[in-house]
Amino acid sequence: MPNSLPPTLLSLLKPRLPQMLDLLRELTLLESPSLEKTPADRCCGFLADQWLLRGGLVHVLKQERRGNHLRIIWSPNGSRPQHQLLVLGHYDTVYPTGTLSRMPFKISAGKAYGPGVFDMKAGIVQALFAFEALQQLKIPIAKNLVFLWTSDEEIGSESSREIIEAEARRSDAVFVLEPSLGPRGLVKTSRKGVGQAELVVHGRPAHAGLEPEKGINAIHELSAQIARIEKWNNLRRGVTINVDIVSGGTRANVVAEHAKATLDLRAWRATDMHALEKRLHSLKPIHKGAKLEITGGFDRPPMERKHSAALFACAKSLAKQIGVNLGEAAAGGGSDGNFTAALGVPTLDGLGAVGDGAHSPNEHIQTKSLPQRAALLAALLASS
Ligand SMILES: [Zn+2]
Repeated sequence: MPNSLPPTLLSLLKPRLPQMLDLLRELTLLESPSLEKTPADRCCGFLADQWLLRGGLVHVLKQERRGNHLRIIWSPNGSRPQHQLLVLGHYDTVYPTGTLSRMPFKISAGKAYGPGVFDMKAGIVQALFAFEALQQLKIPIAKNLVFLWTSDEEIGSESSREIIEAEARRSDAVFVLEPSLGPRGLVKTSRKGVGQAELVVHGRPAHAGLEPEKGINAIHELSAQIARIEKWNNLRRGVTINVDIVSGGTRANVVAEHAKATLDLRAWRATDMHALEKRLHSLKPIHKGAKLEITGGFDRPPMERKHSAALFACAKSLAKQIGVNLGEAAAGGGSDGNFTAALGVPTLDGLGAVGDGAHSPNEHIQTKSLPQRAALLAALLASS
């Protein structure tokens, strides 16, 4: 690829900023909460039209409970390459319908605000314009491009995981348009694996005053287990197990029959993930007669840096050509990039917008970064 491509892309995209912001506004006004299928489908339909307009082969992947997923395939003219690149993101947001009334879309002092702009509708806008720029400049692309926009990332990707993994297996690289980190727009080269588990304790009820010896207190057992589990935290290695919620007992004066804890599990390394799951599932009761029931585990495996390093080096050198000093970061939260990296497919995450305040009333992006990040994605697609 010629050294001049990233600057050429940027000079085409810079004047397109007003159109990019128009599209971001339209996309934001189509609220698309993960848990509301009808509005989510409307947003998906709008996106499908946008890609059709730009010449992609559009597949709406119908879902029963969640919003439909959207896959766009583009093949280079006149050839049927064996290889493909995957651009991945989600159009669902954490904001229920009606959020716009107290959190309207607005542009002010170089920032665009609104529900889901940063996480991650601006990322989708960047991808659309990157795709358009590649076509306008007739940049030769060696591989099929597949864009996948899903509807349930914010609620764990239950309905999209298989589709994501199937596309990733066919791909040489995956570019994830999740938000970047911090004002410098750091991309994410590693992410913790994330899981959730439930620890249920069954005891035996008894009168707390008359015959406490006949009871087995589930809450006492759960507390002892929590004290044990807490010691498994290893902040240095980034292994955390956090009790998020506890409940238990039936009423005063009764030895508690049941107790339950919800646990948050995280780890940087796949080996630590497996070890933690194994340890959790082999817990044994401490109080005689108590029974433990343990369910759950990691839903997103860690995204380890070794699967991102080469793509990051490439992105860094392309970014340099448009005057951007691209940095990297590790994230404690997971994304769909965790699935693709865990398959061993090179994955670079956090290529989306520069901004702040995801999942909060202050969610916004920096508008001037839109053309830059779009140019970077286009250059990556042209050179991968
Ligand atoms: Zn996201």
